[in-house]
Amino acid sequence: MSKVRNQYSMQNPLTQYPAPPFSEQPQAAPGLDAQMQPKPDHGEHSYQGFGRLRGRKALITGADSGIGRAVAIAFAREGADVVLNYLPVEERDAREVVGLIEAEGRKAVTLPGDIKDEAFCTQLVNQAHEALGGLDILVNVAGKQVAQKSIGELSTEQFDATFKTNVYALFWLCKAAVPLMPAGATIINTASIQSYQPSVTLLDYASTKAAIVAFTKALAKQVIERGIRVNAVAPGPVWTVLQPSGGQPQEKLPHFGEQSPMKRPGQPAECAPLYVLLASQESSYITGEVFGVTGGNPLP
Ligand code: NAD
Ligand code: MG
Repeated sequence: MSKVRNQYSMQNPLTQYPAPPFSEQPQAAPGLDAQMQPKPDHGEHSYQGFGRLRGRKALITGADSGIGRAVAIAFAREGADVVLNYLPVEERDAREVVGLIEAEGRKAVTLPGDIKDEAFCTQLVNQAHEALGGLDILVNVAGKQVAQKSIGELSTEQFDATFKTNVYALFWLCKAAVPLMPAGATIINTASIQSYQPSVTLLDYASTKAAIVAFTKALAKQVIERGIRVNAVAPGPVWTVLQPSGGQPQEKLPHFGEQSPMKRPGQPAECAPLYVLLASQESSYITGEVFGVTGGNPLP
């Protein structure tokens, strides 16, 4: 169990959260956060906001669970209204997030659907803009990760679906969002330590995450003339349902996060503050950057 009081309580980060071994707990992708043991910390009881995003309007993909859920909770506690995208089968997880956002007195609009589809991505951005009365922040968190032992076992269908979810959707969502965004708006993408240090089992996934780094830097250079900033967060191992639902070979799950210098996985709540910083005007001179949240494996 977490010893956290809030994200400002000083303590030893090594013992702040659960460390391996964990139990094997296979789920079919995309999986439900609700079934994870131990429960990930998304900041439900720990994230304290100070109005750093007061009045902002944000669209977050993958907002039902894991890192996206932590970002949604943090944004609402910092005063933002939020549109949540996720897959329809994740409705149960999404409902919990809606409840938490509404408890803050903020607006939570759900627009579930599959971002592998270009028409859906365009519609998602337009509907989010309409529902919130504007769009100030786009947070691309949704992602697909399926471990395969060798290139021979990696099908074209999987390769295609991983690129569609992680790269094409990013392109389609950003393309639709940029014309709707005012100066001061921000886009935050989710890369990975895998962008730089690919695991042997994540050929397709690591390649998409490397693409996201280049995409982030190039788009940042394009849209700064409109006053829009674009950055990326690159997490290391984080305790989310992505991992037991196929992201890791099942036998590796008990030791998930052990290789990091902190010898434990990070929690979604430990990623959220960086997204808040990058979304807020506090980071006004920062664009085209990638920030690691890795437990001590530095990005190059
Ligand atoms: P997660 O499973 O909780 O979140 C991923 C979300 O992606 C799902 O909840 C789902 O809503 C969404 N998604 C997947 N396919 C989709 C589709 N076709 N259409 C719409 N939504 C879809 O896991 P997470 O770990 O919080 O993942 C969030 C992001 O963080 C991903 O981009 C992942 O690559 C990245 N990341 C995770 C880790 C980690 O160790 N957990 C490390 C580095 C990067
Ligand atoms: Mg989910």
